[in-house]
Formats: sequence, C-alpha cells, structure tokens
Amino acid sequence: MSPLSTARQVSPQKAAACRRTPKMHLRPSALRVSFAPMPDPLPALSAAELARYSRHILLGEVGVEGQRKLVAARVLVIGAGGLGSPAALYLAAAGVGTIGIADFDRVEEHNLQRQLLHDTASVGETKTASAARRLRATNPFVRVVEHREGVTAENALALFADYDVIVDGTDRFSARYLNNDAAFLARRPLVYGSVFKFEGQVAVFAPGPAGNCYRCLFPEPPAPGSVPGCGEAGVLGALCGVIGSLQALETIKLLTGIGETLVGRLLTYDALTQRFQTLKVPRHAACPLCGDQPTIRAIVPANYADAAGETSTVAMSDTDFPLEISVVEVKQLRDANPAGIVVIDVREPYELQICALADAEPIPMRQIPEHVATLPKDKHLLILCHSGARSRRVTEFLRDRGFNAVSNIAGGIDAWAEEIEPGMARY
Ligand SMILES: [Zn+2]
Repeated sequence: MSPLSTARQVSPQKAAACRRTPKMHLRPSALRVSFAPMPDPLPALSAAELARYSRHILLGEVGVEGQRKLVAARVLVIGAGGLGSPAALYLAAAGVGTIGIADFDRVEEHNLQRQLLHDTASVGETKTASAARRLRATNPFVRVVEHREGVTAENALALFADYDVIVDGTDRFSARYLNNDAAFLARRPLVYGSVFKFEGQVAVFAPGPAGNCYRCLFPEPPAPGSVPGCGEAGVLGALCGVIGSLQALETIKLLTGIGETLVGRLLTYDALTQRFQTLKVPRHAACPLCGDQPTIRAIVPANYADAAGETSTVAMSDTDFPLEISVVEVKQLRDANPAGIVVIDVREPYELQICALADAEPIPMRQIPEHVATLPKDKHLLILCHSGARSRRVTEFLRDRGFNAVSNIAGGIDAWAEEIEPGMARY
C-alpha cells in the first residue's frame, strides 16, 4: 500500500462522496489571521521591479498591490529537494521578498534527476548554498536566507515564527509531523506536498475554523520500514515539478489573498492517468494537535527523534547483538564465523550491479516484509545498504517483529568500500 492511499479520506467511497460535496468558498480574510503582520505601508516597487513583475501586475487580481505583498513576504521552504526546487524557483521568480531555505543535506548525483535547484557542479556542496546561488541568479531582488541546520525540534518554532508561510518539501514522515506541529503552534499556514512514485498530494494546513492539519489526514505515522521513501521506491522527476509548482501557487494565493486555497482540502494527482481530485478533509475533533482537546501543546524534541534525518539515539539492544556494527566488525565476523552470519543486502538490483559483497543475500527493502517468515532466526543477520539509512530502517523493522540477532551495518557498502575494500566501485 502506498503512503498516499493510507489517508482515511482517500478511500474510493470517500472520494465519491467528496466529489458530490459543494466547493468550499473561503473568505480570504479568514486566512489572514494566521499571518505575521505585513509591513504597513507595503514596500514601494522600483521601476526595475515594476518591469520584472509586469506580467503579474497585468493580472487584475494581483496588480501592484498584490505584487507589493509578495515583495514584503517571507516564505520558508523546507527541503531544497524535488519539491522545494520548483517551489523555491517559482517563488523567487515571483518576487517573494525573503525566501528561507532549510536543508541539512548535501547535493548528490542522484538528486539531479529531479532537484532542479542544483546542477552537476553543485555535487558535494550543501544544498542550501547551491539553492541560494541559483535563486539569487534567478532574481537578485530576492533575499535568500540559508538555514543549513535544517528544521529541528529545537529550532522549528522560532524559525517558523520568522516567516509568513511555511512550504514543506520534506520526504520523511517524522519531519512532516514536526513541521506540521510547529507550524500550527507558531500559527503559520503550512503548504504541504508529497510525491510517491507516480502520485502526488498537496494541501494547505492553516490554523483557524476552516483549517485542519497533517495529523487529521494521517493520524499515525507508518511503521518504521513499512513505507519506502523516494530513495528506495523511486519517483518521476517531472511529478515533483507538478507538485512543487502547485505548492508555489498555493503560497502565492495565500500571500496575495486571491482565489480559493486548499485550506481544508486535499488535492491528489495521479500522473499515470493525469487525474486530479480535490477532497474535502475536515478537521478531526479528536486530532491531538488541532482537535477539541489537544494533547500536543509544545514541541518536545524526544517526540521527533528522527525528524532531522539523523540516526535516532536508540539505545543498544538488551540482547547480545548491537543495533549497529561497523564494517570493521563485519569483516571480523565474516573471517571468524562465516557460518554464523547472513549479510542481507537491501539495495535495489541496479545498485548491486555497481558493487556488492559476494556472499550477501539480496532482498530489496520493499520486499523485506514478504520475506520475514523465511529469514533465519538462528543466525546473526547483518543488514546492508548503500549508506546505512535504509538498512537501519530494515533492522528496526525486523527487531519489531521479534528478530533479536539483527544488526545494521553502519555506513553501508560505501563504508565497506572506503575502509575494507578500496578497489570496490563506489557511487
Ligand atoms: Zn489536526
């Protein structure tokens, strides 16, 4: 089951019911309450700005007034990746005065298939630096602020309070809950987008009577390891362009007050059939964040351990088998007792063609659930992937299912190539 179909509101019955639901007509003024105060008066536009933004200004609904709102606006884009790229590029081109880019990652070659903020020369650079350079080149009138530490449970509230609208382009569930909760508590609208294989979603979560939140859609995070991310499942790059552009569009509508935003609604898109659906998703009275009796009233870092993409600080197992072992230890185990271990390589077949351990058993991550019953419980399972992230999720998945003798190989085959087998091909 894809994560996009787990929302209770997206069942076919519900979708049919929603298609019969009359369109919502939200008063733009109802949305303004959650914005940081705009400067008064709004900044004047220079001759150069009037010329640059003339195709906005020609639209009667936007006009000079709307463009001045965009120039005064501050938007935080979380994740300079597949969604953040088109979103930030369109927002910069549109003249949004201040754009914050929050990302802790560096550009990798496999990002370039969809992350248009970065180019080949950016590989190895921090994503914020690469993104900032590109956005400034797109529009020198825009002030770009780099947040290289990304969004963390420690900084989220203060960071969000400094912006008018938050655009969520992250691809991890834990980060989405953090972004959702912090945006709600900071009283800022959050423009949510996600993609998975050929499907995409967009919604606007805003505090207020018409609003809802991500927890209303997805009350529970998926079980660790049960849902692969883009890194494991793949994603069509142009689909990111569609969803990220829609996020930019919703942001511009929020800032200028034009049209009907997706507040209280969920837009779903199927790229294979070219079908859009808009579903009305009401606020859930029992939602722990935006419901009638909320239990989430502050950001408690322990509740978002994996949000920044770091390895969560899970304690060592109470068995004799560590949760993580180094490649040096793996080599020692292979040399000392090869019959007592099984290395399971959870990478994809194309990755195995680049490099692999001869004695490893290949089972792609997404096929692990169906192989659980056949995995030996009397051997020490060593889980391997490229860098140690996927294998960590598989390790936790198997431990949750009663496997104690299972360890994640820290750093993955890349660490193996670096430390143990220097002649091995790397990617
Ligand atoms: Zn909610």
